Amino acid sequence: MSSIFAKRMETLGTETAFEVLAKAKALEKQGKDIVHLEIGEPDFDTPKNIKEAATKAIHDGYTHYVPAAGIPEVTKTIAEYISKTRNIEVSPEEVVVTPGAKPIMFFSILALVNPGEEVMYQNPGFPIYESVINFVGAKPVPIPLKEEKNFRLDPEYVKQNVTAKTKMIIINSPENPTGGVLTKKDLKAIADCIKDRDDVFILSDEIYSRIIYEAKHESIASLPGMKEKTILLDGFSKTYAMTGWRLGYGVMRKDLAQKIAQLMVNSNSCTCAFTQMAGMEALKGSQEEPARMVAAFKRRRETIVSGLNNINGVTCKKPLGAFYVFPNITDVGMNCRRLSDYLLNKAGVAVLPGTSFGQYGEGYLRLSFANSVEKIEKALNRISEAVDSL
Ligand code: PLP
Repeated sequence: MSSIFAKRMETLGTETAFEVLAKAKALEKQGKDIVHLEIGEPDFDTPKNIKEAATKAIHDGYTHYVPAAGIPEVTKTIAEYISKTRNIEVSPEEVVVTPGAKPIMFFSILALVNPGEEVMYQNPGFPIYESVINFVGAKPVPIPLKEEKNFRLDPEYVKQNVTAKTKMIIINSPENPTGGVLTKKDLKAIADCIKDRDDVFILSDEIYSRIIYEAKHESIASLPGMKEKTILLDGFSKTYAMTGWRLGYGVMRKDLAQKIAQLMVNSNSCTCAFTQMAGMEALKGSQEEPARMVAAFKRRRETIVSGLNNINGVTCKKPLGAFYVFPNITDVGMNCRRLSDYLLNKAGVAVLPGTSFGQYGEGYLRLSFANSVEKIEKALNRISEAVDSL
């Protein structure tokens, strides 16, 4: 029987985190106690100054349509912020504000990649990249990330796999799900792979740029000649605990920014006006709260990494950025999908199988440590007991 849905829907993927969350919620409804380590969002409240800026903006009349690319004061603030933090010259016309940073992935792939062209992306990596690459009829070319390289991509692999059909290379540092952080040397080597190509773009997902521990965040856009080839994606969800506000942005060359704004006109019209004003306060106001959150994540990282390393069959590297750990579970003796189901149903701990982030995620789980130390300890005890009883 033919489907009622358009053919293109067959190629669209999803994000398993939301499915596991739904399963976990269903178990909670039956009265089960679940520790949530599946979803990637800070457990902290949005800082007060940001919430107050939003309510003030509502009262000041920021409740109507605004320009598709963003409110001019807001794009100017973002341009200044990126200029300062990435040490490059960015003008407001090179900024597009979107409802969350996610649409920047969707829109830049839609705007740049033709069917049959190739897009490279890290695997394990954020699942939406592969989903959208397939959706536009392009060929996904995974770049495997290896634990022994601290989940940093191998630039040599990139070099060998760039072809005449390559249109885009997606990088993400600090990385979801592994916490891997690319060094300046890595970025230089990646830039080198496309130095003679003006038709290849880098989508640099820097959403975790501020959630970083021992390492320093480096942007490929900062390298000589790379700003024009880069779409820099960043936003407010993670740094300012604003996941539900839906506010993010892309920074890119002007002609591409106009195309992305056109996609905005065709889909959202614009990003919520008062949310944008709140985002402006986030960037301009006190940075104490985000710093406090990162300090808390760092303490929780210690708890979760040492706890996981004490569980039989599990080993866990310390992530350098983001708020996820990606423990190796190969010695537990179950594939990652079965183990995550088992942990949810038997131990009441919601985690994600590594394969939710691509085929190279087999043998791993992803746990978010954006949760209290008490909850993390409870989860660790439960996982340990469940694994020991296998
Ligand atoms: N990029 C990565 C790597 C992420 O993990 C996420 C969210 O989980 C996003 C982008 C999307 O962020 P936003 O909430 O701003 O759409």
